[in-house]
Amino acid sequence: MNIYKIDLNKTSHEFEKEQLIVKSDSSGTYVVYKCKRCGLGARKYKDSDLLIVRSRKKLTDEQLLRCSKEIISIPAKRIRVLHKPNIANPAFDNLIVGSEHECIPPPPGQPNRLPGVWVNGIGEPVKLLNGEFEWID
Ligand SMILES: [Zn+2]
Repeated sequence: MNIYKIDLNKTSHEFEKEQLIVKSDSSGTYVVYKCKRCGLGARKYKDSDLLIVRSRKKLTDEQLLRCSKEIISIPAKRIRVLHKPNIANPAFDNLIVGSEHECIPPPPGQPNRLPGVWVNGIGEPVKLLNGEFEWID
């Protein structure tokens, strides 16, 4: 049995509690989680923020970080910045109000919890959240 730890903030699997029943094993009590898209199961032990995946198959970091059923939807191609994101990161410096940007697929391992789009910032991909941009079409 292969055992892996997943940081919820670093995976695009969308884990949710499968059931509310608390189970237990030799490591303690846990609740069963499941990715609602691909079905990957995990356990979340009490007092831990990490999810534990037990798998007979070997899983790569990429498989743990990136859901195979991840929805990479880019409904339109270009956006215009409405509000400069309030983030003290120089990578966001090219997102000036009114500037136009091409959308790009989310980088691997990035959680897709908040709705928004990815664009090229300065030197790295950056995410604009809904409300901070409008679609150009
Ligand atoms: Zn998944």
